[in-house]
Amino acid sequence: MDFTFSAEQEELARAVRDFAQARLNEDLIRRDREAAFNREGWTACAEMGLQGLHVPEAYGGQGQDLTTTVKVCEALGEACHDNGLVFSLNAQIWSVEMPILHFGTEEQKQRYLRGMVEGRLIGAHGMSEPDSGSDALAMRARAVKDGDHYVLDGTKTFITNGPVADFAIVFANVRPELKALGITAFLIDRDMPGVSFGPKIEKMGLRTSPMGEIILDNVRIPATQRLAREGAGMQLFNASMEYERAFIFASHLGAMRRIYERCRRHARERKQFGQSISKFTPVADKLIQMRMDIELAQLLLYKIAWAKDHGQEMPMEAAMAKLFISEAQVRASLDAIQIFGGYGFTVEYEVEREHRDAIGGRLYSGTSEIQRKLIGSYLGL
Ligand SMILES: Cc1cc2nc3c(=O)[nH]c(=O)nc-3n(C[C@H](O)[C@H](O)[C@H](O)COP(=O)(O)OP(=O)(O)OC[C@H]3O[C@@H](n4cnc5c(N)ncnc54)[C@H](O)[C@@H]3O)c2cc1C
Repeated sequence: MDFTFSAEQEELARAVRDFAQARLNEDLIRRDREAAFNREGWTACAEMGLQGLHVPEAYGGQGQDLTTTVKVCEALGEACHDNGLVFSLNAQIWSVEMPILHFGTEEQKQRYLRGMVEGRLIGAHGMSEPDSGSDALAMRARAVKDGDHYVLDGTKTFITNGPVADFAIVFANVRPELKALGITAFLIDRDMPGVSFGPKIEKMGLRTSPMGEIILDNVRIPATQRLAREGAGMQLFNASMEYERAFIFASHLGAMRRIYERCRRHARERKQFGQSISKFTPVADKLIQMRMDIELAQLLLYKIAWAKDHGQEMPMEAAMAKLFISEAQVRASLDAIQIFGGYGFTVEYEVEREHRDAIGGRLYSGTSEIQRKLIGSYLGL
């Protein structure tokens, strides 16, 4: 495995870093307070090619390999302080674009994938329900075949991008007696009769990433809106979770790097008892832990990207990356508040927001407990 990046990869990451710093960070304290989604920023990201990084050129994308895509997502996560916008983008890239790319028909790819890459369409991924989160298989959403149509009923909740989405991938069971083997994925549009996208759910962090419910009430859709074959929903879900668990967290790694750099600078500049607080062992230890976590997270992520670029599946490693990086980011952002002291507790210093944003990482794409359960099952425990 070669750990050096090419000049082109470095240049692309640098361009994205410059773009994010110049275009995506303005007025963030207000936008976070008001839970405002940056639609203008989203469009600018599409113009920059971010929604199409890994999408083949045939659908308007850049056709980058995963290693390059991860490098760019890491750069974006570091330079864009709007963790909510970065999360919304990543949620679409990994859990909407990837399944359509891998499982969609040519027509679905031309319509939905191209629309997302161009920034015209925003996509969402609807699996969770009010009574089934970790136990996704226990979903109540149903799809009944009716000639060359399906009729869908159900409620999906905690759906990232829901309030602003033009369409969503939703999962429903066509044959509940078959349990997992009945679960099927469908593409539903916002304007289809019977579909409603609920209002924003207020949340503690990632506030600029809108989240809401999707309600399906007797939604009659043609069978051409089915994504992949009947009963392939869990296969599709697991494949997209493998991408999401590993690669959403590339941007989190970038955010950890930003937190670390800010803390290091502050610890060296801030003087108490006549010397920099970085000279005090408890402060230095926190910085050392952050830097070690960044190094380990980077190794794990790029190993997965490299392996997947070489056709290998990495579901256990993806669960490990998700677990490790999300927990490390929560620790780093909490330590950051401590290193900044009273200033870290103020909104003005924009450190407390990093912590509120980081906590979501332990919940979405499967909680930390569920990642441990998954890793255990891969180890035969
Ligand atoms: C910011 C954010 C964005 C999200 N975006 C989306 C999205 O776009 N699409 C979507 O479909 N969903 C989304 N979700 C939902 C997310 O996937 C669920 O919140 C998550 O899977 C947990 O489900 P739950 O909230 O119902 O918690 P529960 O499943 O009720 O879990 C509650 C607690 O019990 C623990 N627990 C449950 N089962 C076990 C077990 N077997 N062993 C040990 N502990 C267990 C959990 O770890 C957790 O601590 C999002 C959530 C968040 C916070």
